[in-house]
Amino acid sequence: MTAGIIRNIVIVGGGTAGWMAAAALSKVLGTQKYSLTLIESDEIGTVGVGEATIPTIQEFNRMLEIDENTFMRETNASFKLGIRFLNWSAQGSDYFHPFGTYGLDMNGINFTHYWMRYHLAGGSADFGLFNPQTLAARQNKFGRMAEINPKAPNVNYAFHFDASLYAKFLRAYSEEKGVVRREGKINAVAQAPDSGDVESVTLEDGGTINGDLFIDCSGFRGLLIEQTLKSGYTDWSHWLPCNRAVAVPCEKTRPITPYTQSTAREAGWQWRIPLQHRTGNGYVFCDSYLSEDKASELLLQRLDGKAQAEPRVIRFVTGHRTKQWNRNVVAVGLASGFLEPLESTSIHLVQEAVLTLLRYFPGKVITDTLRDCFNRDMLAAYDNVKDFLIAHYKVTKREDTDFWAHCKRMEIPDSVKFRLAAFEEHNHSLVEANELFKEASWFAVLVGQGLRPLSYAPQADVMAKEEFDWRMDRIREGTAALAGVMPLHESYIAGVCASRQRVGT
Ligand SMILES: Cc1cc2nc3c(=O)[nH]c(=O)nc-3n(C[C@H](O)[C@H](O)[C@H](O)COP(=O)(O)OP(=O)(O)OC[C@H]3O[C@@H](n4cnc5c(N)ncnc54)[C@H](O)[C@@H]3O)c2cc1C
Repeated sequence: MTAGIIRNIVIVGGGTAGWMAAAALSKVLGTQKYSLTLIESDEIGTVGVGEATIPTIQEFNRMLEIDENTFMRETNASFKLGIRFLNWSAQGSDYFHPFGTYGLDMNGINFTHYWMRYHLAGGSADFGLFNPQTLAARQNKFGRMAEINPKAPNVNYAFHFDASLYAKFLRAYSEEKGVVRREGKINAVAQAPDSGDVESVTLEDGGTINGDLFIDCSGFRGLLIEQTLKSGYTDWSHWLPCNRAVAVPCEKTRPITPYTQSTAREAGWQWRIPLQHRTGNGYVFCDSYLSEDKASELLLQRLDGKAQAEPRVIRFVTGHRTKQWNRNVVAVGLASGFLEPLESTSIHLVQEAVLTLLRYFPGKVITDTLRDCFNRDMLAAYDNVKDFLIAHYKVTKREDTDFWAHCKRMEIPDSVKFRLAAFEEHNHSLVEANELFKEASWFAVLVGQGLRPLSYAPQADVMAKEEFDWRMDRIREGTAALAGVMPLHESYIAGVCASRQRVGT
């Protein structure tokens, strides 16, 4: 138990994690009762990547009462309807993991079971026909349904944005709310001799900042959570072997696609993230199968626009900090772990950590129970994402390179084995209520990679054929109509950026 009133909160780091934490804490806790200080070092800088998100970020923006149109304009953002996966199952394969569900659940049965009936009776193998995000993405279209047709079902989305502009945007927001920014490099950390709690950090210029609660957003180095408190690291690289990324932005190409693209390569995969002013690119790979120099060379060859910088190599180990809240230090962002960017989940995990901290925020004392609650929830969040990512690699049919042969044959955790068995035998994804990736996501990835369940829920066979065929036709038409009414993504962005209308507040 850490005694004393929590008053001075110190955020160490001003990357996406630091400024998201500062914005949320200043909004929820205010700066009257609490003092909020953020320390960042211009000399060290930020990791400089992390531009694709998932729809939960809309909730974060809404909580901050951020006008979505202003956010789009200030961060040079584009909309994202999902991820297109190329070459993952086999060379030439192509599927889409959308932010949304398929068709319509009927009689309490998930639509995917009806799709299985439809497909096995000779219906199209293209399950994307039943998802509006997939159809809109294929046509480079996007529009918020709330504006186009408020009576129509919601079409969920997320964003691609410039990470440095997002941090700048949240910095202005936080400073306006009273967060104090200190620039400088921390070169010493003082701990209380009795409790071991962090008491203060000292900057190179000699300035000392005291705190009751420290939020470690210092990136991979984990300045407080690891370098000071030695909280340990749970290494998952035997299941998620990629440990390097080389990143480079290039000139934008048209059209600006409303999706992230992930192309499987010889020793990993390449991302393509379209922004308004440029395209972000990177090759995530495992250095046991490809050198950093070769990966950089291959990435440069495979850009679809002129490179705007030298490729930059980033090294990481997939896994998470074993204790994410230790003593009076809470790790958020890369300081808490990293699961590689395949499903764009890191910024979501930042958001999750900040909201979980606010949920269990200590009153007068930090108790072991509060710490345990936080650690339990965050480890579950990491664990669920981990299982979903492993499944992407495991179900590949590729054996054309040593990397893919390894992924196909690798041992996987029992939790993933059980899920894959339930899916392959019965089309059950075993998703629990609080999991991030729902049935539709597991279905999109597993069926997208060529798996076909051997059976499906027998209730899906109860409906008479005539009614079933009629319903499936109507659902498919309705889905096409939703995508059909959307404008082209690029013209929609232009309208959004010209507008000052408040959205989602
Ligand atoms: C290759 C790659 C691709 C990624 N792609 C995505 C993606 O598409 N989507 C997604 O959601 N996430 C992605 N991520 C993750 C995402 O980049 C991070 O989650 C996000 O940027 C948060 O980073 P951070 O703020 O924790 O760390 P950083 O950006 O590294 O910030 C660390 C901060 O700490 C400060 N600091 C460090 N040491 C000191 C010190 N001694 N004194 C003072 N200040 C200090 C630094 O100056 C900096 O301000 C990706 C990550 C990688 C590596």
